[in-house]
Amino acid sequence: MKTKIAVAKGDGIGPEIMAAVLRIFEAANVQLDYEYVEMGKSYFDAGHSTGMTAAAKETIERLGLLFKGPMETPKGKGVKSINVTARKVWNTYANQRDFRSLNGVDTVFSKAGISINLTIVRENIEDTYGGIEHLLTNDVAVGRRIITRPGSAQVIRYAFEMARRKGYTKLACGHKANIMKLTDGLFLETFQEIAKEYPDIESSDIIVDDLCMKLVSRPELFQAIVLTNLQGDIVSDLCAGLVGGLGFAPSANIGDNISIFEAVHGTAPDIAGKGIANPTALLLSGILMLRYLGFTTAAANIENALLYTLEQGIHTGDFGNRSTQAANTDGFADAVIANLGQLPEKGAVVAQPDMEVKANHDHPLKNKLTVTKAATTEEMVGVDVFVESNKQPNELAALAQRKQTDNFQLVMISNRGTQVWPTGSIFTELVNEYRIRFEKKDGTSITQKEILHIAADLSEDFKVCSVEFLMKFDGKIGYTLAQGQ
Ligand code: NAD
Repeated sequence: MKTKIAVAKGDGIGPEIMAAVLRIFEAANVQLDYEYVEMGKSYFDAGHSTGMTAAAKETIERLGLLFKGPMETPKGKGVKSINVTARKVWNTYANQRDFRSLNGVDTVFSKAGISINLTIVRENIEDTYGGIEHLLTNDVAVGRRIITRPGSAQVIRYAFEMARRKGYTKLACGHKANIMKLTDGLFLETFQEIAKEYPDIESSDIIVDDLCMKLVSRPELFQAIVLTNLQGDIVSDLCAGLVGGLGFAPSANIGDNISIFEAVHGTAPDIAGKGIANPTALLLSGILMLRYLGFTTAAANIENALLYTLEQGIHTGDFGNRSTQAANTDGFADAVIANLGQLPEKGAVVAQPDMEVKANHDHPLKNKLTVTKAATTEEMVGVDVFVESNKQPNELAALAQRKQTDNFQLVMISNRGTQVWPTGSIFTELVNEYRIRFEKKDGTSITQKEILHIAADLSEDFKVCSVEFLMKFDGKIGYTLAQGQ
């Protein structure tokens, strides 16, 4: 019996490259059946605010697997990206992107004889992709960066399991915990805890800027890297550049219930409809999907045919030897089909026996992410009140000090994260949004109500923009100090 999956052809070049890939699947006798779903630009235009029909949503949730072409989200209509929505709504928490040097795809590294084979696993739900942003004053915008312990644990555990499955011996965690001490700090701490469960995989961590430098100078140092969402987004495009560009970057969005396989590139509106797009990235994503489903023999067969085709110098217009004629999308697919059964000279994939076909259908009975690591003690120790003001720090402090109580004292005022009171530098430039920090005095205890009172009192003199509680968990402070504090 064939396994059924949902297929969305996508917009722009999507239908062209999807047709080419499915033709290759058919020629390789892949045992898949497709249920086509209605998603993409025309469904936004037809009034579906999520860019998909109710029937499409039902089909994808029933089948648990979506193979999709790139999609366009209309700009300026206030709708959210369909690609990001799909990843988030269905909790495809791990974005896996495999990058390898392909014989026939020239890069500075291939010319230098350096072979690249690495995988980026990017957290796919959290971070700044929550899209929670506010204008606090007409001049000051802030965004929330959400990193959670269970969300980090899910993707990090996936990365370790993937590393094991692929026979990798090491996994690195990329981060910026030296600056974002609590958000990236939590991601790194979770990585270090989970690493203890995988003694067979050498774990290490690396600051993301150093990682970028090393990836372009010594990419062979890495096998797999796990990162938070935004950093992972940037680093994975950098890695696509290492192996020849987005035309060679496959992507799998893995969740426990639903998974989505797609190319990293977009709809390429400049070449859409011309039949000249490169189907390789979507084909590589399809190969990832076949392996994920358990069709390992077909995956190896198609991958070897693709590698052989590239080795023969066959190319579409976006890569390869420009002095030889470029194949169009269909011509490239025909060449891969004709080469099924061939083995490339370099990097041939050994066909493994098929695994049990994976069904993605187990529906969650409860939200397992709400089970978190609780702190033994939790204490409320103060508040940061963000206010709009054009006053100088000393004037601001004088007004704020009037709101002090027996339990509560003004300890610090900062501007753009830099302390400007009680001490500061006259060279610190000020914008019209300040943070005023009150902390409880030693030996006292305070309630949430008292804290909110302080904010209400400050609203007599200022426009209060937002309020954040200062907490201690198991005696450890759960907030950062200001620069210079
Ligand atoms: P893009 O990836 O579509 O195009 C960038 C450049 O790469 C273009 O010159 C294009 O011709 C070329 N290119 C891309 N894929 C190619 C292929 N397979 N073969 C040959 N050349 C290829 O990026 P963009 O122009 O920034 O985005 C266009 C649209 O795609 C936007 O609406 C964007 O939102 C959407 N998009 C969708 C996805 C997705 O569905 N996952 C991802 C990225 C962008």
